[in-house]
Amino acid sequence: MEKTNVPELFGSLVFDDRVMRARLSDKVYRSLRRTIDENAKLEAHVADAVAAEMRNWAVEHGATHFTHWFQPLTGVTAEKHDSFITPSPDGGVIMEFSGKELIKGEPDASSFPSGGLRATFEARGYTAWDPTSYAFIKDHTLCIPTAFCSYAGDALDKKTPLLRSMQALDRQAKRVLKLFGNEVKYVRTSVGPEQEYFLIDKEMFEKRPDLVYTGRTLFGAMPPKGQEMDDHYFGVIKPRVSAFMEDLNEELWKLGILAKTEHNEVAPAQHELAPIYSTTNVATDHNQLTMEIMQKVARKHGLVCLLHEKPFAGVNGSGKHNNWSMATDTGVNLLSPGETPYENAQFLLFLCAVIQAVDDYQDLLRLSVATAGNDHRLGANEAPPAIISVFLGEELTDILQAIKNDTPYQGQEKVILKLGVHSLPRFSRDTTDRNRTSPFAFTGNKFEFRSLGSANSIACCNIMLNAAVAESLKQYADRLEQAENFETSLHELIRETIRKHERILFNGNGYGEEWVKEATEVRGLSNLRTTADAMPRILDPKNMEMLMAHKVFTETEIHSRCEIMLENYCKTVNIEGHTMIEMTRKGYLPAIEEYQYSLAKTASLKQSVSSRASCGYEISTIERLSQLTDEIRIHTQKLEEALETLKGFDTIIRTSEAVRDEVLPKMEALRSYVDEAEVLVSEKIWPFPCYGKLLFSVY
Ligand code: ADP
Ligand code: MG
Repeated sequence: MEKTNVPELFGSLVFDDRVMRARLSDKVYRSLRRTIDENAKLEAHVADAVAAEMRNWAVEHGATHFTHWFQPLTGVTAEKHDSFITPSPDGGVIMEFSGKELIKGEPDASSFPSGGLRATFEARGYTAWDPTSYAFIKDHTLCIPTAFCSYAGDALDKKTPLLRSMQALDRQAKRVLKLFGNEVKYVRTSVGPEQEYFLIDKEMFEKRPDLVYTGRTLFGAMPPKGQEMDDHYFGVIKPRVSAFMEDLNEELWKLGILAKTEHNEVAPAQHELAPIYSTTNVATDHNQLTMEIMQKVARKHGLVCLLHEKPFAGVNGSGKHNNWSMATDTGVNLLSPGETPYENAQFLLFLCAVIQAVDDYQDLLRLSVATAGNDHRLGANEAPPAIISVFLGEELTDILQAIKNDTPYQGQEKVILKLGVHSLPRFSRDTTDRNRTSPFAFTGNKFEFRSLGSANSIACCNIMLNAAVAESLKQYADRLEQAENFETSLHELIRETIRKHERILFNGNGYGEEWVKEATEVRGLSNLRTTADAMPRILDPKNMEMLMAHKVFTETEIHSRCEIMLENYCKTVNIEGHTMIEMTRKGYLPAIEEYQYSLAKTASLKQSVSSRASCGYEISTIERLSQLTDEIRIHTQKLEEALETLKGFDTIIRTSEAVRDEVLPKMEALRSYVDEAEVLVSEKIWPFPCYGKLLFSVY
């Protein structure tokens, strides 16, 4: 087999800095760089020159079309392809692409969710080039990463508010850095998202309507073996999976995606891929692409990649870890403890900013990961609880305690830490990365937000995180800029912040029942268990004011997002409910009846041969199955009625509460009866492949 030349392959389908530098004139290149690095306005002639070279490059690489590639609020990406062709006078065509076409597109916005934005504004929308994320070629199409807005300027996508939140953080972080004597060009947040997924056989997948329609199994009894042997985690990768991963890596590398680590996860058939971190908006684009390409490559291998948060009950679901940090253009990681006392003080202030942000806006972080799928994981002893808290590790916690109380730090030196005078003791990475039960953990030089669901766009949580940290930093800058003695005020500020926000710090077991009690009853932290509980919190005045003050969202945008996310929750569960009804009526009930019929026939035949033949098995099974048949019939009916009532509510918040309180419990009840029947009925008659087949058939 041909060996892959990775450095040659890497980014070969990306119009990246190497290509720009090589192909653009010096003047055009430098002007574009200023736009990318410093947000400078892009001039029309520069755009034209870039577009012309982009087209040449794309055509050389086999592209025939271009598209503005964007992330509407549906959660997936969208694209509308236009070919480069323009008729020429001689009856042929030439390939054209102008600066105007590069900068702005006008897709028909009317079929994308807008959460009421369209009622008040124009239906049309436009897409605008995000030059900070490189264009790339996918399926013979030049894809231009873009933001998507309505003509009134409202964001109809996830990229626009993400870019705004990055700007907000940049603005405030630079103010704070200036107080430490650091003038930098910009501060950017970086993210490395670790992505979990399942791979199952395509043939099995296609036989399960629940997987096809909803991405998760709505029924299924546990197989004799689940994940209890812990033999899959980091285990040997099976040949078919390994071939998939090899292929996937190549496809990702071509697109300049830094796919780095891959391994088996805890559940059977579960795997993980982690890239090397990059700037947040690029990481977001890349994660969306990664999810798309995972699914495509899987199909080529006769597999299906499941990105749902909980494809199987009884084994772990899939999440995503959002590793997040802030760094300057000079490469200084602001969450990395420094070498000198002064750097340490700066590190502690940025650390405090994050702690305060998570405490003040716990609900925003929680709701940023809220979906019907992720509700099955959070708090289910396989993922962090719905309660948001921060893990710092013992050493850093002790340091903060020492500062708070003005007591000696019990490290090697035993000194009272005076910020700006003393160095922080070195703490090793090891002690910071132990607790896997925390939703928000400091891991040495970054924070890892672990509550994301595998299918979530990482844009959502990073919008909230960036905005909330920008708010803490703004408060600090406002105060310290007025300070007479910077060092004293800084010390005071850090001490105050620790006192005020230490309730969010928790190093213990996040899965324990005691934690739920302590967090909610003693510490007053919020525990928003479902999407229906969490999402409406975005409308709390404190949250709206903060998001609007930093120009991350407008008031209408916030309302529209709340509406869309809740709508999405209701629609998802509604589809699941109807799928259950269909599978029950068309598949399960007929199969159970058929089995009872064959048992009854067997029993009566046996009796006709000899009255002494025992029919104990037939009789007891029929007795139980006939009871279950009744229960299944009744609960299908109840579920159907509950789904019907959803049409009657006048607000989406009320509908979502009914989904939570009426529909989901009925789905669970129905499932329990069907799953019990599955155990009793012959596999030959059972209409859909069972868990054992789904989880253990890929080699
Ligand atoms: P693990 O969690 O498996 O120990 P790491 O912590 O090294 O692995 O990395 C997990 C993810 O965090 C990777 O995607 C990595 O690129 C990313 N990461 C590492 N350093 C940073 C950083 N400073 N900022 C953001 N992400 C980072
Ligand atoms: Mg990690």
